[in-house]
Amino acid sequence: ASIFAAVEMAPRDPILGLNEAFAADTRAEKVNLGVGVYYDDNGKIPLLAAVRAAEKARLEAMPARGYQPIEGAVAYNTGVQNLLFGKDSALLANGQVVTIEALGGTGALKVGADYLKRLLPGSTVYISDPSWENHRALFESAGFPVETYPYYEASTRGVDFAAMKAKLESLPAGAIVVLHACCHNPTGADLSDTQWDDVVAACRSRGLIPFLDMAYQGFADGIEADAVAVRAFSASGLQFFISSSFSKSFSLYGERVGALSVVTSSKEESGRVLSQIKRVIRTNYSNPPTHGGAVVAAVLNSPELRQQWEDELAGMRDRIRAMRTGLVEALKAEGVAQDFSFVIKQRGMFSYTGLSAAQVERLKNEFGIYAVSTGRICLAALNNKNLGYVAKAIAAVVK
Ligand code: PMP
Repeated sequence: ASIFAAVEMAPRDPILGLNEAFAADTRAEKVNLGVGVYYDDNGKIPLLAAVRAAEKARLEAMPARGYQPIEGAVAYNTGVQNLLFGKDSALLANGQVVTIEALGGTGALKVGADYLKRLLPGSTVYISDPSWENHRALFESAGFPVETYPYYEASTRGVDFAAMKAKLESLPAGAIVVLHACCHNPTGADLSDTQWDDVVAACRSRGLIPFLDMAYQGFADGIEADAVAVRAFSASGLQFFISSSFSKSFSLYGERVGALSVVTSSKEESGRVLSQIKRVIRTNYSNPPTHGGAVVAAVLNSPELRQQWEDELAGMRDRIRAMRTGLVEALKAEGVAQDFSFVIKQRGMFSYTGLSAAQVERLKNEFGIYAVSTGRICLAALNNKNLGYVAKAIAAVVK
């Protein structure tokens, strides 16, 4: 018999399943709000002009394709560090930050998780309830038990911070806490600056290991403003982990550009930590691919391209904001009595709309509008052409 005879079919990824159903839908007016991708006002994934310019220069230079160092390119890793910590950071000056180029934010989380498993084999990982759906599976696949801390409160459509804080303050020393640095996926509900200070205090007093997931830097208020959590932890003297993703902020999804940064207590410690992280990488994919990181590094390290990128990033951010306001106003105009103004306060690409699974099902069946059954929609999938239609449909199912 075949060695695969008894292999069971794994459950389908819920979001990819949604995309397949959307692709098969023949209705012309269909809209996919289930995605986790930024689309422009024409419903297309943009190729940023700054990226285009960097790619053109790279193509003209025709560099040889040797291996990268295990940790990736210095120019890239330094660029990432400056975005996260600010270029005047004392941690950077002291050599207290180890950064490696990773295969997207997912790859950064995975390298971090595998390294943490070697460092703290008996630890438990805590993720927000709810969280990005891959967090649990990813840390479980690294061998950790994964539990949750309270986060979203449906009745206020915000964070139940008292419950979150109480939970953090009850965790055992050495517990790993995964925190969304900004633009919480899936809820769009973020912590305030003072709440971040409280989280830092809880991590310090309990001896927790913070792991910040930064997948949307620049999508809420801007590069600097969105680094508030990183800066709060940087000032704390604690050791912590950060995964970065440039999938959205550079619109480079398929190039797999991300980074893992680890803050240590000294330059000497950084050297030892890096040597161990390199072992994790070496036995996994050996070294990162060249192109995406080279493009991001070229943009970050050129004053002109960097400015162009920041302008384009601001354009994406402003367009999402305009869609948030537009949706709320259109729902009002459709005569929806329910207050949807919380959509304007949520940050990043997503909103937990409060739509029930049954309402989401009706959106799909009656209107060809696809959303996640939890009621999560991607605001970046709205545009001036489909906004009115989506608002009419939502009005029809909530009335
Ligand atoms: N973390 C969060 C919170 C995300 O939303 C995502 C992607 N949607 C990732 C990590 C993974 O990013 P990447 O696609 O770069 O692997």
